[in-house]
Amino acid sequence: MPSPTILVTHPDFALHPTPRGHPESPERITATLPLLRSSLPKTICWVEPGPGTRDLLRSVHTEGHIRRVEEASRDRLVLLDQGDTYAGPHSFDTALLAVGAVTTAIDRVASGEATNAFALLRPPGHHARANAPMGFCLFNTVAVAARYLQRKHGCRRILILDWDLHHGNGTQEIFEEDASVLYISLHEHPLYPGTGSTLEQGRGEGEGFTLNLPMEPGSGDAEYRAAFEEKVLPAADAFEPDFVLVSAGFDAHRDDPLGNLQLSEDGFAEMTRAIRGVAERHCQGKLVSVLEGGYQIAALGRSIHAHLCALENR
Ligand SMILES: [Zn+2]
Repeated sequence: MPSPTILVTHPDFALHPTPRGHPESPERITATLPLLRSSLPKTICWVEPGPGTRDLLRSVHTEGHIRRVEEASRDRLVLLDQGDTYAGPHSFDTALLAVGAVTTAIDRVASGEATNAFALLRPPGHHARANAPMGFCLFNTVAVAARYLQRKHGCRRILILDWDLHHGNGTQEIFEEDASVLYISLHEHPLYPGTGSTLEQGRGEGEGFTLNLPMEPGSGDAEYRAAFEEKVLPAADAFEPDFVLVSAGFDAHRDDPLGNLQLSEDGFAEMTRAIRGVAERHCQGKLVSVLEGGYQIAALGRSIHAHLCALENR
């Protein structure tokens, strides 16, 4: 029996509160989990996250930033930035559990118990900077995952592919001087947060290890397929990663209210198969994917379903 594809998630990811009407809502968890329970192939294995720790957060974030989020996570909702980023009761614990989910996923994949994994969690992370929350994101979960791979598992070349609708400015910034992490982002441009031009290619020792692929409004499956064939796959293969992380946002879906892109579930499945191929060519398939955005609840559920089935090679 081959090792399974695993889904690391927990109902408690619904506990992080946001104001009524906010797109990054607990419903993203409460509506998606039952749908996946009833529709996913039984071969996909559901796994609960282990605990996250402050030490993991400290591998990316300043102590001041960690304390600020913790202190904001008390008895009422607090606005943390101008980008609609809130914390309230349970936010800090939920964000810690998110870190626990990615490290659990990594440990299972690294040990060979799982072929690959998807961590279905919130809040998202890719806008969070080392010293500040931003854009619905409290801590940069995928960045913590990369540092964990380096420190605990001795990985030397980590690929982060980010296909969220938005540019992952936080992830780019954290690794822009780091040649051990190749950051590739496809995102609608121009759009929030405004970064992610092709001219941003990394700095210092990290020059050449950031690849931004801005997509024009209206782009869909065909444009993404072309970007993968012409840019993403050649860069990823040349890098020869020893682990692949995916910042999997599903807000580039055509039904999503936050953007103007036109991806379908099939498009997400196709990108999943393509990046799974990179992992299979270079690192025995080792890949952990992490949920970022995706705000149209029905489209989010269908897209995650398609993503997991493609991770499992269906
Ligand atoms: Zn997004």
